[in-house]
Amino acid sequence: MPLLASAAEANTKRELFYVANRPPLAPSAFIKLPIGSIKPQGWLRAQLELEANGMTGHLEEISKWCKFEDSAWASPSGQGKFGWEELPYWLKGYGDLGYVLNDEKIIKEARKWIDAVLSSQEPDGFFGPRANKIGLEGKPDLWPHMVMLNVLQSFYEYTHDERVLPFMTKYFRWLNSRPGEDFGRGYWPKIRFGDNIESVYWLYNHAGEPWLLDLAKKIHEHMENWTSGVHNWHNVNIAQGFREPAVYYLQARDEKFLRAAERNYETVMGLYGQFPGGGFAGDENCRPGYTDPRQGFETCGIVEFMHSFEMLTKISGDPIWADRCEELAFNSLPAALTPDWKGLHYLTCANQVALDKNDHAPAIENGGTMFSYSPFEVYRCCQHNVSHGWPYYAEELWLATPDRGLCASLYAASEVTANVGDGASVTVSEETDYPFSDTVVLRVSVAKPVKFPLHWRIPGWCARPSAKVNGKSISLNPKRLSYARIEREWKDGDIVMLRFPMGVTVRRWQKNHNAVSVDYGPLTCSLRIGEEWTRYGGTDAWPEWEVRPTTAWNYGLVLNQRDPASSFALVKKSGSLGANPFKPETAPVSLQVKAKKIPAWKMDRFGLAGKLQDSPVKSDEPAEVVTLIPMGAARLRISAFPVIGSGGNAREWTGPQPSPVSASHCFGHDTVEAMIDGLEPKNSNDHSIPRFTWWDHRGTAEWAQYDFTKPREVSAVEVFWFDDGPNGGCRAPQSWKLFGRRRESWKPVENTSGFGTRLDRWMAHHFRCPF
Ligand SMILES: [Zn+2]
Repeated sequence: MPLLASAAEANTKRELFYVANRPPLAPSAFIKLPIGSIKPQGWLRAQLELEANGMTGHLEEISKWCKFEDSAWASPSGQGKFGWEELPYWLKGYGDLGYVLNDEKIIKEARKWIDAVLSSQEPDGFFGPRANKIGLEGKPDLWPHMVMLNVLQSFYEYTHDERVLPFMTKYFRWLNSRPGEDFGRGYWPKIRFGDNIESVYWLYNHAGEPWLLDLAKKIHEHMENWTSGVHNWHNVNIAQGFREPAVYYLQARDEKFLRAAERNYETVMGLYGQFPGGGFAGDENCRPGYTDPRQGFETCGIVEFMHSFEMLTKISGDPIWADRCEELAFNSLPAALTPDWKGLHYLTCANQVALDKNDHAPAIENGGTMFSYSPFEVYRCCQHNVSHGWPYYAEELWLATPDRGLCASLYAASEVTANVGDGASVTVSEETDYPFSDTVVLRVSVAKPVKFPLHWRIPGWCARPSAKVNGKSISLNPKRLSYARIEREWKDGDIVMLRFPMGVTVRRWQKNHNAVSVDYGPLTCSLRIGEEWTRYGGTDAWPEWEVRPTTAWNYGLVLNQRDPASSFALVKKSGSLGANPFKPETAPVSLQVKAKKIPAWKMDRFGLAGKLQDSPVKSDEPAEVVTLIPMGAARLRISAFPVIGSGGNAREWTGPQPSPVSASHCFGHDTVEAMIDGLEPKNSNDHSIPRFTWWDHRGTAEWAQYDFTKPREVSAVEVFWFDDGPNGGCRAPQSWKLFGRRRESWKPVENTSGFGTRLDRWMAHHFRCPF
């Protein structure tokens, strides 16, 4: 990480223009520019405007958690019913959305909430909903506050409101007075407390009180230990938690902490991220055996992972984090939402061939609706938390550098105004359709000539970048994954033209049966599948949608074995980029490739694309030419493809297997598969895992059956009964019997001790085979 050294050298001058790390914190490789310095343009601005006109801009009308009169964030000790994470989740992006768009209406509306929060502080420093102070069995639930602090940080960066720093100082004093155990308590706070460490450093850099570093150390030492590895497999916990050691590195100044964050990332992606799009299989948790690209990644995970990568770019100066951020931003984030930003879903999958409202558990860990688009509370956390995805991204396009220059970090059309060199103000306008174009033009505006260094990122996928200044080629360190730097005296009207030639590349996913994915520069390309949108609920203004395929999706690619990338023909749309390039009909680039159907690759009994099988795959179907479009534009998609083979090593694809379990009846929100999903209930009233019930059949005789593929002699059975009394209506049965079958003959199993129906435990019954 070469930039760390140069950052250290420039340490003494770094605080000239922008708030950077105060000693003894290690200097960061890059420094965030104040919010408002960067004006997003082009497709990114259009996405932000869709967000403002869509769900995020109108969530107060849609979400019960965002009603001022009902919120405990607005009235901490009053009537407010709702005081947990939802409001801060939404406000975190909503406020920043107003700031990056300079949208007066949004800024004013966000201010109403922020004013309420700022006036809610108690004498001891605690603020916000009083219920949170005793939210964990009498002890404070500190998680929602972590989110609200992010809201205040952005508000301060944009307004310099003088209330914020004393307010946060007072809160952190209260936090610092808490015993260390408070930072290791609760499921969410314990794992996510790294978020607070970042806020503590932010305040330290702004206000400089040394005890804040003691607080950060205390948090680090008592929260989940992310330095020793990944100990929690919840997808959002990972997406925000894994980075904690790298944040703490700033204080510890030991590179083992930086390495720990990278190692955490590699661990998770190595096991569960073996498909394109930048996310991993965590629906809701990562589960051994569930690693196929049909597994989902939560929308909260997408935006939290992006936020982590943005932080790590600045801390480490390693451009790989910016690459990873772009991969998620271009490919997974747009696909998580309807193109008009009026609905989203909970889970986005690399291979997702129907977005229905059906329950896909236990193939997807979460039961209930996860795939269809809705603006409503069915996706409660993501509905609010998605708000910060694009605004935070827009704030990180450009970064200040410790050598008093600027760095183009994430590419998108924009305009940045910042102080550089001797303190002169410079404006650089960035004109580009990136990632749909390989050219980035930077125009420099200065009142008088000024000397400063300009840095820009060379993405990992780009082998032959080039640059011209005022039409003249400059020699460039062409290394992938590095930063180029040019220092000169810039004059008004100087033009830098960067080119990042994009080519088709094919990635092979060995751990997922040798499937392949196809990239064009930073874009992953997915099979274009015909989409049928059916409204199933909501209102005319806020409809809920299912999307089903109207064309086949079960293709394997026919690739040139020696040079797979040469199998694709690139088609570029001429003319200017449409307002929203993330739609199938407006996708600016597409690829054509030969493919063959794999007839046995079907939806399986869980309503998901069947799991991948080993490539190369045999197919006797005729070759067709199919179209691939950017993944972000494909609401239905195959992104990890089987490869068609010929000759001896091509494998036969095995069709979907029937379920071994069946029953006389199963409630629509439950699943018979719960009997064989391997998930153990904590007690008889455990609602956190899929279950099988005969609800609402009462007083009836019902059956459930398990079929073995081959005859087996069985001598024991274990049952864990579900019973949601006293409030629910499901009871364990009055009595039950067990039957065995040989050919067509059923025989009752004799068991002298009878069959029990006790709750909260496995009931084991041993018996002799009836045959
Ligand atoms: Zn979520």
